[in-house]
Amino acid sequence: MGESEMIGRFLAMFRRRFRPLASGLAWEWRPTPTEPIRLPPHLANVAGPFYVEDGCCLSCGVWEEEAPGLLAWLPDSDIPHCYVARQPETDAEFGQMMAAMRVGKVDCIRVHACRPDWARRLREEGLGHHIDPAEGPVRR
Ligand code: SF4
Repeated sequence: MGESEMIGRFLAMFRRRFRPLASGLAWEWRPTPTEPIRLPPHLANVAGPFYVEDGCCLSCGVWEEEAPGLLAWLPDSDIPHCYVARQPETDAEFGQMMAAMRVGKVDCIRVHACRPDWARRLREEGLGHHIDPAEGPVRR
């Protein structure tokens, strides 16, 4: 495991276990959740239903095989992190995004309020846990 990957994993673990206080100057321990903690979308994601969580990345890179035209690495980032560079527009592109969601590590590629038929297909493929609840992803 490379140094940047270790740092990325540590940051992901830290964000899952601690949350910033209102002052922004200190952090408090998150109680063990009964539901998985979801992270807010990375600001680099293009607008649209599909997004990658901010700080969730383990630099897996496996999406490069499945959806190279939809996801991309952040440029000029010390810690590798992918983001949604283009939203799927066709069923074929949705299939690519769904494949990336299937192979991506730590379920960090998510979707909120996408087309009902695409949401149905995600559930049929056992990827329903990637769909946000109606109230949407975690707010900053
Ligand atoms: S799919 Fe997840 S873990 Fe893999 S590179 Fe993208 S954000 Fe990182």
